Amino acid sequence: MKVHHLNCGTMRPFGGKLVTGEGSYFRAAELVCHVLLLETDDGLVLVDSGLGVGDVRRPGDTLARWWRAMSRPVLDESETAVRQVEALGFAASDVRDVVLTHLDLDHGGGLRDFPQARVHLSAEELAAATRPDRSGNDRVRYPDGQWRHGPKWVPHETTGETWFGFSGVREVRPDVLLVPLFGHTHGHTGVAVRDGDRWLLHAGDSYFFHGEMATPPHCPPALTFMQKRMQVASGLRLANQDRLRELVRDHGASVDVFNAHDATLLRRHQAVPA
Ligand SMILES: [Zn+2]
Repeated sequence: MKVHHLNCGTMRPFGGKLVTGEGSYFRAAELVCHVLLLETDDGLVLVDSGLGVGDVRRPGDTLARWWRAMSRPVLDESETAVRQVEALGFAASDVRDVVLTHLDLDHGGGLRDFPQARVHLSAEELAAATRPDRSGNDRVRYPDGQWRHGPKWVPHETTGETWFGFSGVREVRPDVLLVPLFGHTHGHTGVAVRDGDRWLLHAGDSYFFHGEMATPPHCPPALTFMQKRMQVASGLRLANQDRLRELVRDHGASVDVFNAHDATLLRRHQAVPA
């Protein structure tokens, strides 16, 4: 399997050091949408999908005004997953499966660009995102304009195997697992990918900053605020961060853990030849 680490949506929130922990307070910070593209013997797989072409061309249709004001997405079409898939010489239709950590607008935005793909996610997340009576935060984070085309949803129950002490883990296709990490959203999961004799764990939005996996953990205040602003279950979210820290401490040689939005972690992975 060949693994590509893509950025499918740069964001430049105000706050500089309050967001990234370094540099000036007066510069815009940089956040990314870290997406994996897997070349497998059985087609291409995306892990998360970032922002899509529709979001970039018509942001007012799907990206709420306050979310744009907070995140300040750059909206560059060349960053979308489909344009990067094409730049690598593939067609959108080569993507057979999209595996989502969750359905927030900056993770499911690319779904419209891959209408033929199966879309795997936890059953809890699909239920939360598509509830007709959802309100408040949920209406903003889950814009149905991103999936009104009718994706080929494949919801997975989060009861199953254990994996490095995490329970309820489901294999959604060979060497790709959904690992429940609820708290940021109702059905948020990590996505584990076996890459040779190691594992990658895309931990989505279960943490935002690389320093949160350190001992003792630390996180710039603006990112702490954003995580609290978007969480649905504080206790679960923090307990899952504890478990991820244990995973890094005890199995860091076997499992490479990263998150969706930390530009430092994305660059570290892109610097390693695939
Ligand atoms: Zn996110």
